[in-house]
Amino acid sequence: MRPGEPTVAEFDMQMKMLRQYFHPLPLVEAVERLQAGTLPDGAACVTFDDGYADNEQYAMPVLRKYGVPATVFVSTGFLNGGRMWNDSVIEVLRNYPGEVLDLRDIDLQCYTLRSHEQRRLAVDSILRQIKHMDPQERIERVNEIQKRGARLPDDLMLTDAQLRSLAGNGIAIGAHTVNHPILSSISPEAARSEIATSKGDLEALLQEPVDAFAYPNGRPELDYGTEHRDIVRELGFKVAVSTHWGVGTTGSDRYQLPRFTPWDRQPLRFTGRLLANYRQLDPLLA
Ligand SMILES: [Zn+2]
Repeated sequence: MRPGEPTVAEFDMQMKMLRQYFHPLPLVEAVERLQAGTLPDGAACVTFDDGYADNEQYAMPVLRKYGVPATVFVSTGFLNGGRMWNDSVIEVLRNYPGEVLDLRDIDLQCYTLRSHEQRRLAVDSILRQIKHMDPQERIERVNEIQKRGARLPDDLMLTDAQLRSLAGNGIAIGAHTVNHPILSSISPEAARSEIATSKGDLEALLQEPVDAFAYPNGRPELDYGTEHRDIVRELGFKVAVSTHWGVGTTGSDRYQLPRFTPWDRQPLRFTGRLLANYRQLDPLLA
């Protein structure tokens, strides 16, 4: 259902290449050295968003194998059996026992589900149509889709025990709000509460400071604004990352660092993509 995501073997290759040709560093250390001008050549940081259980089950052993530091950004509202709304849609379509799913009564289409490809196309179509709905309307739509009878997994996201296991194995834990709202679509007070609560909950669970934050969806000026950047700074985070495509430079805003996904199944192309991105400078210079 998700052909774009790397398998364990592909992720193993990617981390092997990263270890061999680059200089992977912990995120907070990298940002401090970036701004002090002591960053080594080929510096890179690995991050995961949302808090999926497979980060602990499948990615962590690979990270440990190659000694690659990483940060996992967790939306705390989904810990211990929760599910993000997009995953609910994906899982209904994956597990739906019939070959036709008629959603015309909730303003969607009638989908034919005879193959994985058709199920994947149905997911794309539904997500595209409900992604930008008002959150309450979207929840109602997803609840209706869930009622169509498919059994849904409750082990997609991390448990408290898995979260502690990540932290205990040297993986940094960052905050990613409680409910993963698009910050620019909620009030400043609600945004502050989402950011502060996720930090506080994670610190209580781990008994250590949480220094890094990732903006949900992460597009500067669209999904979050400078007012949210200021909240993140005021709450005592040391760094924050967006999903803006690029690499950080000495002039980068440490509360809006860009990232990119160089995924490729071929080792040489993966490495080439990583290298090519070093020329993609951060347009959000502070
Ligand atoms: Zn996210």
